[in-house]
Amino acid sequence: MSDCLFCKILDGEIPCDRVYENEHVIAFRDVNPQAPTHVLVIPHQHISTVNDLTEENKNIVGEMMLAAQAVAKQEGIEETGYRLIMNCNEGAGQTVFHIHLHILGGRIMRWPPG
Ligand code: 5GP
Ligand code: ZN
Repeated sequence: MSDCLFCKILDGEIPCDRVYENEHVIAFRDVNPQAPTHVLVIPHQHISTVNDLTEENKNIVGEMMLAAQAVAKQEGIEETGYRLIMNCNEGAGQTVFHIHLHILGGRIMRWPPG
């Protein structure tokens, strides 16, 4: 998708602080961090929202979760705790329409979220 910000990050057209990558996903630090650790995991494949997941592409969500687990270990927050979030559509706060998993940690996370 030529007009997608995260596809441009994947292509290297827009720089990012990459912390993890494998054949399925990359993970990089959020430009506007909401916690001491705030990393985004995105699939190589462009999928706009969680509503666009299907039987054919559902495995990517497992890959995103395993990547998040690896990043949490790398960041040293696997024991203290971390929150994984996927916002779907504007009402939930989605601003970039290429699915991404937020990893937030390094501070106490309150519930319910705002
Ligand atoms: P959303 O609001 O869609 O769930 O999350 C999008 C996230 O992408 C936001 O937390 C925002 O700070 C982050 N973001 C937006 N533009 C960029 C960028 O150019 N680089 C990086 N690293 N993060 C970005
Ligand atoms: Zn994209």
